[in-house]
Amino acid sequence: FMTSVNDIRSKFLDYFQSHDHELVDSAPLVPRNDPTLMFVNSGMVPFKNVFTGVEKRDYSRATSAQKCVRAGGKHNDLDNVGFTARHHTFFEMLGNFSFGDYFKEQAIEHAWHMVHKEFGLPKDKLLVTVYHEDDEAFDLWKKIAGLSDDRIIRIATSDNFWMMGDTGPCGPSSEIFFDHGDHIWGGPPGGPEEDGDRFIEIWNLVFMQYEQHANGDRTDLPRPSIDTGMGLERIAAVLQGTHDNYQTDMFKALLAGVADVTNTDIGDKGDQSRRVIADHLRSMSFLISEGVLPSNEGRGYVLRRIMRRAMRHATLLGANEPVINKLVGSLVREMGQAYPELSRGEAMIKETIKLEEERFLKTLSRGLQILEDETEGLSEGATLEGATAFKLYDTYGFPLDLTQDALRQRGIDVDQKGFDEAMAAQKAEARKNWSGSGDAASEAIWFKIADQKGATEFLGYETEKADGEV
Ligand code: ATP
Ligand code: MG
Ligand code: MG
Ligand code: MG
Repeated sequence: FMTSVNDIRSKFLDYFQSHDHELVDSAPLVPRNDPTLMFVNSGMVPFKNVFTGVEKRDYSRATSAQKCVRAGGKHNDLDNVGFTARHHTFFEMLGNFSFGDYFKEQAIEHAWHMVHKEFGLPKDKLLVTVYHEDDEAFDLWKKIAGLSDDRIIRIATSDNFWMMGDTGPCGPSSEIFFDHGDHIWGGPPGGPEEDGDRFIEIWNLVFMQYEQHANGDRTDLPRPSIDTGMGLERIAAVLQGTHDNYQTDMFKALLAGVADVTNTDIGDKGDQSRRVIADHLRSMSFLISEGVLPSNEGRGYVLRRIMRRAMRHATLLGANEPVINKLVGSLVREMGQAYPELSRGEAMIKETIKLEEERFLKTLSRGLQILEDETEGLSEGATLEGATAFKLYDTYGFPLDLTQDALRQRGIDVDQKGFDEAMAAQKAEARKNWSGSGDAASEAIWFKIADQKGATEFLGYETEKADGEV
């Protein structure tokens, strides 16, 4: 018997509900209370104003499974996808929260009860970190969990001290790690091999006990709070006896779909591409379900980057027609019950993906050919000229990170400064050559639109036509 991802989500939420936590639905990925944030990237984001006291709710404890995207900004795991067994661009964060209600001792009690009793993880497979000055947390882990001293690791870096921003609530954190065993490369947190997949961080507890002031002072919060986040995909992997998120029931189903539409086999050399596609399918579908559309600026551009990157991986698997849109049905089967917006939006999500696939497939293979030609003589450690990366962007619709992703395995870098310069030069040139109507207001509007849409929609289209490809 294997506990499914859907069962694990329920089990977590049920436990905290039965301990007087209000069950709160996931907030949308597009943040409603934070203009500085691209996408919600942790469970606490929707509660920010509750933690600071700006907003009052009629409960002081909550639990949620929050949709998260980490594909840009401060938390960017895009480059990790396909390379680690534990990072996604889209994932679900399970959390329990106390708004000035219980604090450190009860938070550790709940967490220990959850992992050890409810999920049944053995003590000798678990270890925790605490902030180096947080003796209180160290002693509580010893007392509550009975962990030996060498399993409570003191960490002095900012990894174990959380801050909401330059000012506001902050405090030490404690992370719970699962040891998947020495057949997997990696070492314990704080050590030289911590980037491996052997010791995997499953849960992060934040003890908000101070307030950071603009003048640098740090004072005690009158009513400290708790914020925790557990990666659903990671705990599912643990409970299903694998160190690899992509071996869980949900991802296996998605990967089977990818293999199917690309006529490839699980286990052949295309595994990495299949993983990227399965991962990106989730983030693109959830974003589209909220009305985010691929475009050349802001959130829409993050979405476009995710989509086009997935599409390149589909062509690596031999697909030369739109296939990713055909996977939406399997995602809805896996996640539609927990997230009805997916079921409701199914047709629209599919259509949006298909359109973007058709649009990009027109230039993708030409662009890849050019990339091939331009890097033919380059060996590991070399750098691709920024001007070439810009041409790929400008004429063939290659987001910079797609080019970087394509060259990464060969150890070739892209000259990002050169890319930025080429971009700036093109914008300056366009302004200089603009004779326009002499009407300053309409010129300003034109340039605003051109900047937003990017050159792809303008010059790229003409180039395509000149080449007789459309
Ligand atoms: P890591 O050090 O492994 O990158 P993190 O410390 O950045 O994780 P947190 O910000 O503490 O992660 O998020 C809380 C929890 O969410 C983590 O303990 C982990 O279980 C999960 N998590 C974080 N990032 C990802 C991701 N990109 N994909 C899947 N799960 C994630
Ligand atoms: Mg991280
Ligand atoms: Mg971490
Ligand atoms: Mg963490």
